[in-house]
Amino acid sequence: MAGANPAVVYARTAAPAAGECAWCGRRFGGDDEHRAGRIRCARCGVATTSPWPSDEQLAKAYAVWYRPSAGRFSGVGDAVLKRTRSALASRLHRVLPEGPVLDVGAGDGTLVEAFRRHGREAVGVDPYASGASPHVRAVEFEEMTGGWSAVIFWHSLEHLRRPVRALRHAADLVVPGGVLVVAVPNAASLQARLFGDRWLALDLPRHLVHIAPAALLSQIEALGFRVERVSYLRGGQVLFGWLHGLVGRLPGHPDLYDAIRRGEAQQAAQSPALRLYALAAALVALPLAAAGTAIEVATRSGGTIYVEARREPDPETA
Ligand SMILES: [Zn+2]
Repeated sequence: MAGANPAVVYARTAAPAAGECAWCGRRFGGDDEHRAGRIRCARCGVATTSPWPSDEQLAKAYAVWYRPSAGRFSGVGDAVLKRTRSALASRLHRVLPEGPVLDVGAGDGTLVEAFRRHGREAVGVDPYASGASPHVRAVEFEEMTGGWSAVIFWHSLEHLRRPVRALRHAADLVVPGGVLVVAVPNAASLQARLFGDRWLALDLPRHLVHIAPAALLSQIEALGFRVERVSYLRGGQVLFGWLHGLVGRLPGHPDLYDAIRRGEAQQAAQSPALRLYALAAALVALPLAAAGTAIEVATRSGGTIYVEARREPDPETA
C-alpha cells in the first residue's frame, strides 16, 4: 500500500510475537533488538519476523497477486526476470558437475526451464507452485531425496520457517563436488539500513528471516562447503532496491514495486496519476540509485548476497 509504513502495519497484526530466533534458535530476551515487525538476534545477527505469522496468514500473503498466472510484472519486468534467470543457468551449467539440479522455491519454473534448455535435468519444488511448469512439484523441499549436482535457493531461503534445517537438508542432497547456491536479501546492506521499515526486501510477512552475510557464510562453511564465490550484485534487485527506497521517501510514499506490477498483481489499486508519479520519480532517482548501487558493490554491502559454495569431494575419491 502506498503511504503507510508497511512494517508498522504488519507489526499490528494479531499473531504471537516470535519467541526465538528462526536462524539460530536462541530464545529472545532483553539483549535482542526489537524493531517494527522483526526482532534482531543478539547472537547471530539475523532478524526474525515478529509477530510470527500463522500458516493462514502466510497463505493469504501469497495469494494470487504475488504470482498471478499472467506474470507479476508488466512486459519489461517479466522479460528482465527471464533473462537474468537464463544467465544464471548458463553460468551454473558451466561450473557444475554432471547431474540434475534442484531449484527450491521455483515459482513458475523460469530457472528450471532455463537449465532444461541446456539439456540438463532440472526439477523445482514450491509449495505455492502455480502448476504452469510440469517440472515444478508442489511439495516441501524437505520431502526431496536423492543426489543433486546443485541445490539452489534463489530468493527462497528467507521464505522458509526453518532455513538452517533446510540448508542442512541441502548439504545431504548435494553430491561431493556439487554446489550449493544461495541468493538472499542482505539485511546488513547499506540500503537495508538506509530505508529501514520501508526497505523493499523486508517484505513482511513473506520474508520470515532477514539474513546478514556473516551468519549465512559461517553456516554454509559449517555444513562442509567451501565458499567459491560471493557477489553483492549477482543476486539481482540491488538497483531496484535503491530505486524503490528512494521513491518511497518522497511525499505520499509512492510504491514503485506496485507501480510496475500488472493490475491484478498489485497489493493495492493505484490511481493512474499515482502510478505515473512513482514512475517519473524513479526516472529522476535513477542516477542516485546507480550511485548507491556502485557504493554498495564497492563496499561489499549490496542489497543482495549471492553465494556459490562447493561441497568438498570425499577424501577417498579425491
Ligand atoms: Zn540468532
